[in-house]
Amino acid sequence: MDMDIPQAFQKELTCLICLNCLMDPVTIDCGHSFCWSCLRVYWEKAETPACCPVCRQPSQQTDYKTNILLKGLVSIARKASLRQCLSSEEHMCGTHKETKKIFCEDNRSLLCLLCSESQEHEAHSHCSVEEAAEEYREKLCKQMRSLWEKSQENQRNLDKDGRLSFHWMCYVYKHEDIIRAVYQPLHPSLRKEEKQHLGSLKKQGNSVFKQLQKIRAEMVEKRIQLRLMYEELLETCHKSDVELLLELGNKLPRIELVQLHMPQRPQPKLSARPVTGLMDRLNRFRVEISFHNEVTNHNIRLFDDVRSVRYIHDSRYVSLNPGTPNYFASWGTQDFTSGKHYWEVIVDRSWDWAVGVCRDSWIRKTGTLVESKDTFLLVCVKEDDRYSLWTTAPISPQFIAKPVGRVGVFLDLDSRSMSFVDVARHSIIWRYPDGVFTFPVRPFFYTGHT
Ligand SMILES: [Zn+2]
Ligand SMILES: [Zn+2]
Ligand SMILES: [Zn+2]
Ligand SMILES: [Zn+2]
Repeated sequence: MDMDIPQAFQKELTCLICLNCLMDPVTIDCGHSFCWSCLRVYWEKAETPACCPVCRQPSQQTDYKTNILLKGLVSIARKASLRQCLSSEEHMCGTHKETKKIFCEDNRSLLCLLCSESQEHEAHSHCSVEEAAEEYREKLCKQMRSLWEKSQENQRNLDKDGRLSFHWMCYVYKHEDIIRAVYQPLHPSLRKEEKQHLGSLKKQGNSVFKQLQKIRAEMVEKRIQLRLMYEELLETCHKSDVELLLELGNKLPRIELVQLHMPQRPQPKLSARPVTGLMDRLNRFRVEISFHNEVTNHNIRLFDDVRSVRYIHDSRYVSLNPGTPNYFASWGTQDFTSGKHYWEVIVDRSWDWAVGVCRDSWIRKTGTLVESKDTFLLVCVKEDDRYSLWTTAPISPQFIAKPVGRVGVFLDLDSRSMSFVDVARHSIIWRYPDGVFTFPVRPFFYTGHT
């Protein structure tokens, strides 16, 4: 193996995408092997489903582990050609006429044994070129996987929040109407407070909008940087070991730098604005609600995986998969057809919950809640390590702090609207516009103990 590697052997170790010696080889379902990094790029450009670039057989998965056996063979082949390369005239020390077999990490240069023992290199860290090449290739593979992962994550965030600033502004405009509607039945002496609220809402709306635009621009910029770096490395990884050693060392700090300070997904939030006299007014309409408790072990798929909510193309799928027996759905024992009614529900015992009302006839229906026009709910779901609030009919994000303790539900069947109240903060979370209900409704509560 130390001599010439037979051409046939070399050919077997060739990636059929880049036509170079395999680097971080992965073997896909059909048995063909490619460089991990080439395959990522190929599949990103290719149409789905992913299939083999050679035989077109569809591949079930798209992420593969390194084929250790192939990696070992490639390493043998590389070492052989490295030795061949080092034995050439070009890599002979001019002074000592010896092969430069030593790599100096500090100067990033190749040295012969005698040069490496000279005073100049006394304090340096040296190792054999072979060892260094192996180590640098390993580093390179790691960095390429990490760069790819980072750029995928960045892209996912960009996709998720594609229309976030647009949704945010719509939300702020709607809140202007909500503030007016909330103050309207209150005492005229509160006009000043109303004006202040409207003013600070506008200010916050604009400043968050700018912030969202800025973060988005950073994400787009990061996408470009990560991509350029990936492509640069893709080129580097196909270079000879000697070239790799001389080039990569200088690049490593840059590769690490570009992966730092990844723009984080923004979580815009409107401040809670306490409304003087709100709770006094609502408590005048206080009713006690008794609930039927039911374990949702039959086919009520309330929210089909709310955690996968996306803003992509504005089509959003919200549902909460009850899957576990710890989810409970409760319906109020009485329905409401007229008058004003206010009740409170304790929500701080779970991360996932939904509070509100639903149409009587919806109760025994199966299917998801999301598309339903029969439910008017405030929904809280935990997604990774963050929670998000939504309202249904239509499903919309709520950019407001999660209420702790209790959520108040104010059903006003005279104006046929409904509001959700953050009891602890004396503030309005959301108010449906007048006239949304044209049918009797029943209180509803859904909770998950995780
Ligand atoms: Zn390749
Ligand atoms: Zn194949
Ligand atoms: Zn020398
Ligand atoms: Zn040195």
